[in-house]
Amino acid sequence: MRILIVEDEPKTAAYVRKGLTEHGYVVDVASDGLDGLHLATTSDYDLVLLDVMLPGIDGWSVLQGVRRQRQTPVLFLSARGQVDDRVKGLKLGADDYLVKPFAFSELLARVQNILRRGQVPRDQTMRVADLEVDPVRRRVTRSGGRIDLTAKEYALLDYFVRHVGELCSRTLIAENVWDMNFDSDTNVVDVAVRRLRAKIDDPYEAKLIHTVRGVGYVFDTRDE
Ligand code: CA
Repeated sequence: MRILIVEDEPKTAAYVRKGLTEHGYVVDVASDGLDGLHLATTSDYDLVLLDVMLPGIDGWSVLQGVRRQRQTPVLFLSARGQVDDRVKGLKLGADDYLVKPFAFSELLARVQNILRRGQVPRDQTMRVADLEVDPVRRRVTRSGGRIDLTAKEYALLDYFVRHVGELCSRTLIAENVWDMNFDSDTNVVDVAVRRLRAKIDDPYEAKLIHTVRGVGYVFDTRDE
């Protein structure tokens, strides 16, 4: 589970980072609004912890920017505890709002709550057109016919299906499916996509994997 903290107060950021790291989360920190927005929209996080008063652009604007592109859960951490502020945060689409100062145990409980919510669909069968992916049994079918995939092909398909309609760059795929950054050799991604295509697209008329030249792929039901 990856969590992004957007917080300009170094002590708070370090304290939260340490605590969450100790609980097994992978944590990145951005110390101003622009950096936070950039990271939150170019990298895949399971949750963003967002301060409101930030240098550059404030937390409200960061959330709005994130929501234009992604549905990543956001938890506001703010010294602004007025009802108006909390309501504003939730109305803008935040998942929760915690007022500073807070006890780490309360933050952790809220983080776990949000991540648990997000996890429910991870067990549900996902459907895109006539393709079905059952993440519990790791079973893939198209038009009712069973498709056998290798572990890597399955991981790649799982990533695509969870990002339907989004531009999946080679870099993002490499980072999330292989858990590594290899800008130098994104050819690995292309090779894996070709193999996956041969199984889930080539035998069928409607194609699901679409190439975006020079960038990556979009997985959806649109016509080419
Ligand atoms: Ca602040």
